[in-house]
Amino acid sequence: MNGMNEQGGIFVFSESNDLALEMLGRARELADKLHTKLAAAQIGKNPQEKAKEMIRYGADKVYAVDNPQLEIFQDESYLNIIQDIATRDHPEILMIGSTRNGKPLAGRLATRLNAGCIPDCIVLEVGGGGNLIGERITYGGNALARMAFKSKPQIVTVPARAFEKRPPEEREGEIAQLEVKVEPPRVEVVERKPLETSSERVEEAEVIVSCGRGLEKKDDVALLREVADVVGGQVGCSRPLVEDRKWFSEWIGLSGHKVKPKLYIASGVSGVIQHVAGIRDAKIIVAINKDPEAPIFEIADYGVVGDLYEVLPALKEALRKQLQ
Ligand SMILES: Cc1cc2nc3c(=O)[nH]c(=O)nc-3n(C[C@H](O)[C@H](O)[C@H](O)COP(=O)(O)OP(=O)(O)OC[C@H]3O[C@@H](n4cnc5c(N)ncnc54)[C@H](O)[C@@H]3O)c2cc1C
Repeated sequence: MNGMNEQGGIFVFSESNDLALEMLGRARELADKLHTKLAAAQIGKNPQEKAKEMIRYGADKVYAVDNPQLEIFQDESYLNIIQDIATRDHPEILMIGSTRNGKPLAGRLATRLNAGCIPDCIVLEVGGGGNLIGERITYGGNALARMAFKSKPQIVTVPARAFEKRPPEEREGEIAQLEVKVEPPRVEVVERKPLETSSERVEEAEVIVSCGRGLEKKDDVALLREVADVVGGQVGCSRPLVEDRKWFSEWIGLSGHKVKPKLYIASGVSGVIQHVAGIRDAKIIVAINKDPEAPIFEIADYGVVGDLYEVLPALKEALRKQLQ
């Protein structure tokens, strides 16, 4: 590739394939701007197909680590692999998916590489001197912190849905097999079981019908599910429904999932800042709350002052008729 800087480059990793592809979208734009190459890694069992997919989504080179022992994330081994790639390629920018596994991995990597790290970047730009600038939400969603690196390598973590995937295209790219020594894990996994309470994938949903403490009992979640089913959406909730009531396993908000649906229906949710921080990117917010003073109405595009037990069944019928 003509004019391409063979030193440095950008490296992308997440154990969540979707998030890795989203990061590749922004990383490709940055790599083109910096005239540099873009590498990524696929770790686990039979990584070839996913590696090819990463090339279609923008990577120039993908390190493929084919090892069934690494099919499930293992912090020490994954960290060693990424450190190994970083010390051989010296990427100037390392983008790591901001997942439960990715965040500590990025922090440990930064320590090992003596690098700076900006977590949870929702904006990534190249500054005047060629250094990376990252923006992240701070003060409970009330402000954006804009931070610039002063040294390299520059490590950032990126949350899901911060960036868009590029449309895939047939492109030339290299897949490099990487042999690794798997460290014996320092922790023993005693048991694995799927989360029981929720099969919802709110991060990817285009429509979310969410509930808060206004919902009186667990069985009433069916009311939301019925509305969600009419529009092909998912059910979400505020944090107290997970932490206090244990009805769900994951919540939406500052400390939970940041969502980006086309439509977010909040019922019986007060809309305090910690919840709102997770729904700022929703295109349309509809609030149902019996308190006309509830803060959710300040950010809602449409508001219904009323009892969710009356409004949700009426909404379901109206949507059903409309979509027939
Ligand atoms: C560090 C930190 C991080 C946090 N992170 C998050 C986070 O990520 N996400 C999150 O959600 N919270 C988070 N919280 C908790 C947050 O501060 C609030 O406590 C929580 O969001 C409130 O949840 P809620 O709106 O369901 O409940 P409430 O605030 O109790 O609101 C319930 C609402 O339901 C309405 N209502 C009641 N009955 C009905 C009815 N029948 N019909 C219609 N409306 C009705 C009420 O008028 C009220 O407005 C965090 C807190 C801290 C300290």
